[in-house]
Formats: sequence, C-alpha cells, structure tokens
Amino acid sequence: RAKQMGRNTYQWYSTELNDEANKRVILRNELQDAIDNDQLAVYYQPLVDARTNVPKSVEALIRWQHPERGVISPQDFIPLAEETGQISPLGRWVLERACQDTIRMHARGFRDCTVSVNVSPIQLRKSGFVDEVSSVLQASGLAAEFLELEVVESALLYDTAVVVKALNDLRELGVRISIDDFGTGFSSLSYIKLLPANKIKIDRTFIKDVIKDRSDAAITQGVISMAHHLGLEVVAEGVETEAHAAFLRKHQCDLLQGFAFARPLPFDELIRYLSEGRNGYPGATTGEDAPQ
Ligand code: C2E
Ligand code: MG
Ligand code: MG
Ligand code: MG
Repeated sequence: RAKQMGRNTYQWYSTELNDEANKRVILRNELQDAIDNDQLAVYYQPLVDARTNVPKSVEALIRWQHPERGVISPQDFIPLAEETGQISPLGRWVLERACQDTIRMHARGFRDCTVSVNVSPIQLRKSGFVDEVSSVLQASGLAAEFLELEVVESALLYDTAVVVKALNDLRELGVRISIDDFGTGFSSLSYIKLLPANKIKIDRTFIKDVIKDRSDAAITQGVISMAHHLGLEVVAEGVETEAHAAFLRKHQCDLLQGFAFARPLPFDELIRYLSEGRNGYPGATTGEDAPQ
C-alpha cells in the first residue's frame, strides 16, 4: 500500500499520471458493474504440508474477469475498493463464496481441508464484521474451525485496540488468524505480541532468493524459529522451485505455497488437482499446464 502510494506520488511528475489516474476512475466505476454482473471469481491455491506434500488448506484469491480488459489483478483493484468502500461488499462476497466452496470441497471427500480468506484492515475496523463472519459461517454451514482469515501486520497500525478486539472475537468464534506477507509491513516486531495469530506467512520476497542471498536465508530461518517459539505455524509463500522447497523443509517450515505445487485454480480444477494426487510430487505441477 505504501509502495503503491509512493509510486503514484512519483508519477505526479511523469506523463504516466494521466493514464494512471484515468485507469483508476475507469476501474472504480467498472468495479460496481463487476460486482453486479458476475465478473468476479474466486480461485484457490493449495498450501501443502512441507513434510508430506499433502494439501492441507487452500487460499481464496479473487479474480476479476473484465469483458474487455481481460483478467485484472487484485493488486490493481483491491486498493481502489478500499478507497471507495467497495471492499466491504466485495470482501463479504468472497467470504460467502469461499465458505460455500469449502463445503462443496468437503462433500467431494477432502474433509480436512481448511480455507483462508484475505481480509482488508478496512473490513476489520468496521463494526459488525465479526457478526458478519459468524452469520456467513452459519448460512453456509461451515464450522468455524475450517476458516482462517489472513491479515497483514499493518492492520494494527491504526485503531489498534479495535482491530485487536475484532481478532480476539474472531478467535473466540473458532476462526483462525494468519499474519500475511510477514516481514514487509514496516511495523515493529512488538505488534506480533498483540496479534492473536495462529500462523505466520513469510512474504515471497524473502523466498525468491533464499538459496543465494544470505540475508534472505537468515531472515527466513529466523522467522521460522521465532514463530515456532511463539507457538505459531509457519507458511512460506512464493515457493517456485524444488530448491526453495528443500531449503524450507530443511529448516522446518510447516507449510508451502507457490507455483512449484499449484497456481491459484478455479474450483473445478482445484478438485481435479486434489483428486489426481499430483501433489505427492513437488514440481510435478509446474504451473505450465495450469492456468493462472
Ligand atoms: P496474498 O494474500 O499475499 O496472496 C498471494 C499472492 O501470491 C497471490 O497473488 C498468488 O497468486 C501469488 N503467488 C502464489 N504463489 C506464487 C509463486 O510461487 N510465485 C509468485 N510470483 N506469486 C505467487 P494474487 O492472487 O494476484 O493476489 C495478490 C494480493 O491481492 C493478495 O496477496 C492479497 O493481498 C490481495 N487479495 C487477493 N484476493 C483478495 C481478497 O479476496 N480480499 C482481499 N482483501 N485481498 C485480496
Ligand atoms: Mg494472503
Ligand atoms: Mg501473502
Ligand atoms: Mg502478498
């Protein structure tokens, strides 16, 4: 988010500003159409057990299939939706869809699989969010223990008490909390003591060069060790190669997520992936044969 704002500030002096500004106005208007006209989809990316390569959970990731512009990345429209307030109905829609799909996944035999849903800090700060999660769970019939919410550390930067209360109330419901993009939030390490989390996801920027960059390797090992000492599970994001997976396995990372195993998949392809057992072989699904 900060990076995004920094980039826009910089572009103030460049000719790209017009394009960027236009793009934002257009997207803002069209996002409402997308919500109304079924242009949004939820894809699912498996998280596998680092020791066995067995998928344990899936992360719900929104996709916008624009009729003319093609697929628009959430990185381009989530920040906009946060500015306009559209994030709340959007977030609710993703949550509903993810809970319903997880019920369908369980019905296909994948009974232990949990689902994680990304939650914007704006949603967390809104009163009534916890009740909303509770009623979505009830309406779908999904038990709270199968739902995990992913929150970035910077969610605690503003209205800390409100956010911590919401997270504690969610934990009380039985929902699990995961800290997303860990290490990139510019926040002090003491925030981690306030966050009632079950899990830490190491940001993929640390994983990318973990084999050749000694700092990235040290940070990754340190975060895994710290998380375990805090009694938290650790996920590595952006695991793209077998070398990444081997390093993370060696250092006792619990779960792996990345293109080495599977890309985010539409529901039917997720079921196929889970059924085929290709997941038993890291690298067997290179992503080349699977759509984004
Ligand atoms: P995130 O929550 O950190 O999600 C992980 C992102 O990393 C996803 O990008 C995923 O496609 C990508 N990824 C997974 N494995 C690999 C890999 O091996 N290599 C590389 N290079 N990338 C990988 P995606 O789907 O484009 O989503 C981007 C971000 O948009 C998410 O980051 C999340 O912050 C946000 N987002 C997505 N869906 C939602 C949503 O429903 N609600 C909210 N509030 N935010 C969402
Ligand atoms: Mg996430
Ligand atoms: Mg992440
Ligand atoms: Mg990320």
